[in-house]
Parts: sequence; C-alpha cells; structure tokens
Amino acid sequence: MATMQGVILPGNSTVEFREFPIPEPGHGQVLVKMKASTICGSDIRAIYREHLGKGPEAYQNVIAGHEPCGQVAKVGPGCRRFKEGDRVVLYHISGCGVCHDCRTGYQISCSSPLRAAYGWQRDGGMADYCLADERDLVDLPAGLSYVDGACVACGFGTCYEALKRVDVSGDDRTLVVGLGPMGLASLMIAKGRGSTTLIGVDVCEERLALARKLGLADVIGKADASALDAIKKATQGKGCEVSIDCSGNSLGRQLAIRGLRQWGRCAFVGEGGTVEFNPSPDIIHDQKTVFGSWVTNLGHMEDLVERMERWDCHPEKTVTHTFPLDKADQAYTTMNEGKCGKVAVVWED
Ligand SMILES: [Zn+2]
Ligand SMILES: [Zn+2]
Repeated sequence: MATMQGVILPGNSTVEFREFPIPEPGHGQVLVKMKASTICGSDIRAIYREHLGKGPEAYQNVIAGHEPCGQVAKVGPGCRRFKEGDRVVLYHISGCGVCHDCRTGYQISCSSPLRAAYGWQRDGGMADYCLADERDLVDLPAGLSYVDGACVACGFGTCYEALKRVDVSGDDRTLVVGLGPMGLASLMIAKGRGSTTLIGVDVCEERLALARKLGLADVIGKADASALDAIKKATQGKGCEVSIDCSGNSLGRQLAIRGLRQWGRCAFVGEGGTVEFNPSPDIIHDQKTVFGSWVTNLGHMEDLVERMERWDCHPEKTVTHTFPLDKADQAYTTMNEGKCGKVAVVWED
C-alpha cells in the first residue's frame, strides 16, 4: 500500500513523524494533495506545548494542521462540484452538515458528536495528502497562491469574520492590538474593506518591525503606557471607530476598548487569558460595543478569497518562514518562539 509522511504532535513541544497509508476518498469525499499548510497560534497554545483543549479543542492524536490548502488529486463517488485538479482551501471544521449551525455555515459551532476539525479530531494538513469532505472545500481563485489559501483556512477567515462583525468600512479608522499573524491579517483585511487610518500596536519589537517592513499600517507603535495617547493623537483626539484585539491579553483588550471613540465597536478574536475594565467609563458612557467572534462561516470564506483576489491582498507576504514537511519540527519551533510572522510548510512539486 502506498504511504505518506505525516506529523503528530505529542504535546511536549516536539514533533513526531509517522508513515500513514494514503487514504482513499469515500462517498462525498476528495483526496487533496497538500501544497501549503500553515501553523495557527492555536496549534501552539492548545496542542504543541501541551494538549490543553477540551471539546472542540481536544486534540485526538491525528495528523496535525488545521490550515490546509492543496489540489484535488482524487474524487470519491457522489461528489457534486469539485473535480481532480481543482485548487482548494479546506474550511477547517467538518460539521454534521444538518444542524442549524451547519446550515448557516458555522460548522465551528456545530455541537453534534459527528463534528470533527481537521488537525484536531480528524487528520489535517501536515501530511502529503489530506482526506476531506467535499462540502468543506472552498475554491481557491487563480490569483491566489496555495500559501495565500492556507492562511485563509483559519487565520484570515477568522479576522474577516471579526471585521464583518464590527462592520468596518471606509467610514472607519481601525486599531489592531497584537501584531502576530492575526493582527497582520486584520490590518490587511481592514484596508481591503476600505478603512482609512490603520493603527497597529504590540509589545514585541520583532512584530512591530515586521508590521513596519510590510507597510501594513499608518501608525505602528509600542503597546505601552503611552499607546493610548498615541492612538488619540493619530485620530484628532477621538480614538478609532473600530478595534480588534488579537493579543488575548488583559491590558491589550483594555487598550482595544479604550482606544475607541464614542459608539466604537471592538471585536475580541485573541484567545485565552482574561480581561479587566471599568464598564461605566470604558463602555457604557461612551456607548461602545464589544463583540466576541470565533472563526467564520463557509460562505464568508468563499467571499473572502474572492475579495482577496480583487483587492490584490496576499497573506503570503505575512509568511516569514517556510519549511518542507520533513522539517516540520523546525516550523513548530519557530512558531513557538513567536518572533516571526506566519510559518508555513510547503510542497514544491
Ligand atoms: Zn486556527
Ligand atoms: Zn452540525
């Protein structure tokens, strides 16, 4: 039987390479030849360092990687749309397909025992091939690369959803707190949706330097005690109409709220941690709204790749390190150290 190499994450900050049989697509399934597989912050937080997750975040010792992108190599019986050779992104959660959440495209929220996320409960993208359900596929437009597509599967999709939730447009100035891969993505998408002034802050010098190098914001600065003044100064003393917290940190979340003007809208997408703020001055009296936003839905992911092509928006430029699959251990080590943009495993053939 033909075999392929795949990566398991034992949960002690190491990577284990194993040989697996190349799967055969069943009814309604396709076999995707992997071309790019990027690492998400959640992989590090909830799987690589230790197996933290419960429920939908419980890692079941499957092939890792929930940002897969590739080309359809084989189509099982009963497929209705995709064919061999199609370039595809995997929406990274396969829901039951028939509950209300699945019917609205939010498989992320599916609570059926049949729900399985790629790289968490079913085999994901860190292998030469990935077995996918056809209904989880998003067509990758010709103007986007496979690495662009991989970045969409979780990260860029999640940021797009958050920016839709706060309804960012050309009316708005946008503050992004935390300039890891999610923060960089948020700046790029906010710009695509027309936001006129972009402000990015972080505590990490390497991340500030990368955001500056990529020219992703009008104002990029340190998230320290002077940050709020700098944000006010850049916005005629008012603050931003929209903010996104990608820091997952209490002080970062405070800054995302306090950096808003009256009636401002903030979305939290950074996971973990806690937050402390003073409701009356921070949100009530200034009529602010704070949203939580988790991943995106299938339809919005299709919208996003279409718009990214139109906006000439390429997530690949946020990728600072690429590795072949047999050096996936180095990819995870690099991402774990955090002094990087997005980290990708790529296949050259
Ligand atoms: Zn993710
Ligand atoms: Zn469902």
